[in-house]
Amino acid sequence: MKAAVLEEFGKPLNVTDVPDPQLSDDGAIIEVKACGICRSDWHGWKGEWQGFLAPLPMVGGHEMSGIVKEVGKNIRKVKVGDRVIVPFTCGDGTCQHCLEGYSNTCENLAMPGFTYNGGFAEYAHIPTADFNLIPLPDAVAFEQASGMGCRFMTSYHGVLGVGKVKPGEWISVFGAGGVGLSAIQIAAAAGANVIAVDISEEKLAFAKKVGALHTINSAKDNPVQAIKDITAGGSQVSIDALGIKETLFNSLQAVRSRGRAVQIGMTPMGAEGQIPLDVNYWIIAKEVNFNGSFGMPRAEFPLLLNQVAAGTLRPGDLVTATTSLGGITDVYHDMDNFKVSGVTVITDFTK
Ligand SMILES: [Zn+2]
Ligand SMILES: [Zn+2]
Repeated sequence: MKAAVLEEFGKPLNVTDVPDPQLSDDGAIIEVKACGICRSDWHGWKGEWQGFLAPLPMVGGHEMSGIVKEVGKNIRKVKVGDRVIVPFTCGDGTCQHCLEGYSNTCENLAMPGFTYNGGFAEYAHIPTADFNLIPLPDAVAFEQASGMGCRFMTSYHGVLGVGKVKPGEWISVFGAGGVGLSAIQIAAAAGANVIAVDISEEKLAFAKKVGALHTINSAKDNPVQAIKDITAGGSQVSIDALGIKETLFNSLQAVRSRGRAVQIGMTPMGAEGQIPLDVNYWIIAKEVNFNGSFGMPRAEFPLLLNQVAAGTLRPGDLVTATTSLGGITDVYHDMDNFKVSGVTVITDFTK
């Protein structure tokens, strides 16, 4: 099969023929029809996640949808020909977290494109496929499904599962990249009033298009003060969708007392990722609920897909370009310069 292979960190991916993935008894092979390209892939490509990443050479890609091609001998539910979407956090289906419905915090998490070969290829193997593969409604195209990628699922869980945003509440979203734009659309669809913060006018214009009521350019204005003014004291919920010191600080300060600050953006690796917090004031005295959010439990997928199939959520709106395996490296270089707005999805796996 063709695959875009990461052979050396930071160097162009090698689009070449590699052996097909091997089928396990509990797994399935899917023919990948679409796969999103994401900043998490870029982090892996840069070499930031060594130790966590499978050893090189490896195949990235964790935002896959496709058609089941082959199933292992223990598979009972999944059928050849099924249209499916793959969670980027695959659970073992048997640990306490999986049994309680939180496969995203599974004790034996498997992550396609990170801990094993993923969807930058014609075919991919999915472990524990009866548990992990999610049927894709006919109304949802592959491109739209992969446009959901990790960002839309992650945001869905962050905004609704962890942030528990309610109609009429103010929610501030810091960073209008893929995760932020998804969070804006999901929160707006849930009836919340959304304030988007970014340093790029282009991204803020996009944020408005997908449902932000107000936008703040934090390169020009102090976002914390602006949010306090708009919301008369701070938003009920804030989301840091980026994960740098500045957005994390702003997110914590923009939330009102007893509000919910949800951390979705991962901080950089190493010393830069160790961020000191004013715990006494920002968290204790204000009784702010500061929660992390990671991926999306498989149990929430049917709810998300119902909304996408019904058209009340439109992850396809975030897809701004399609490309081939050979185009991934160019997207990485655009990410180097923070030039990417919206999502590029691979739909051509032949070159
Ligand atoms: Zn588990
Ligand atoms: Zn992703």
